[in-house]
Amino acid sequence: MKTDSNILNLSTLGDMGLYVHIPFCKQKCMYCDFPAYQNLQDYYETYVYALVQEMDLWVSEHPESKSKPIDTIYFGGGTPTELSIQQLQMIVDKIKSTFTITDDCHMTIESNPGEVDLQYLTKLVKLGFNRISFGVQTFDDKALTMLHRSHSGEKAKQAVYDAKEAGFTDINIDLIYGLPRQTLEDIQHNLNIVKDLPINHISTYGLQVEVGTYL
Ligand code: SF4
Repeated sequence: MKTDSNILNLSTLGDMGLYVHIPFCKQKCMYCDFPAYQNLQDYYETYVYALVQEMDLWVSEHPESKSKPIDTIYFGGGTPTELSIQQLQMIVDKIKSTFTITDDCHMTIESNPGEVDLQYLTKLVKLGFNRISFGVQTFDDKALTMLHRSHSGEKAKQAVYDAKEAGFTDINIDLIYGLPRQTLEDIQHNLNIVKDLPINHISTYGLQVEVGTYL
C-alpha cells in the first residue's frame, strides 16, 4: 500500500507495533463480516510472498522505521494458523531481518481450536510466538454448529491445554454472548469450563448481526 510520508511522521512516535493480516479461514462463520475468506488455499503462497514484498516497500518509503523498536507483533485474521509453519517462518524471518525487534517483544497469533495440534503449536513457540488467542466463542456444540465453527467444545479445551504444554505463557480465548436461544445457564456453563482452564485472558463480545453475513 502506498502511503504519504508527509502524513505519517514516524520520527515523532515511540515504539512501533506490527499487525500482520492473514485473510484466510477454513470456513466462513455465520456472523463474520471481517475481511476473511474460505477456499483460497491456492493463494496462500502468493499472499506470503506479497507480504514479504510489502515490508520491503514499506521500509523503502519509511527508512526510519527500520531502527524503530517494535515491541508488539500481532498476527490476526482471518486465521493466521491456516498457513503452514514454513509460510509463517518466512514472514517472521522477514520481519526480524527488516525491523528492530525488542528482546521482550509480545508476539501474538490468532488461531482456531481444532485446527492446530501440539506439534504445530510447539513449532509456533519455536518461531517466537509467546501469546495465542483462540476463537472459542462457546463450548456448546449445538451453538458452534449453528455458528458454522469448525471445532467442538472438547477440541477447544484440548487446544488450550496443548498451547500450555507447547510453552505459550499467555493464552487468550474469545467468547461470544447473546447467541440465538442462549440462556444465562448456558453462559454460566461456559464460565464454569473457563475457570478451570490455564488461560490468563478472556475477550467477550456481544453477537451482532452484520449486513451481508450468513446470519
Ligand atoms: S474464524 Fe474468525 S475470521 Fe474466520 S470466518 Fe470465523 S469469525 Fe471470521
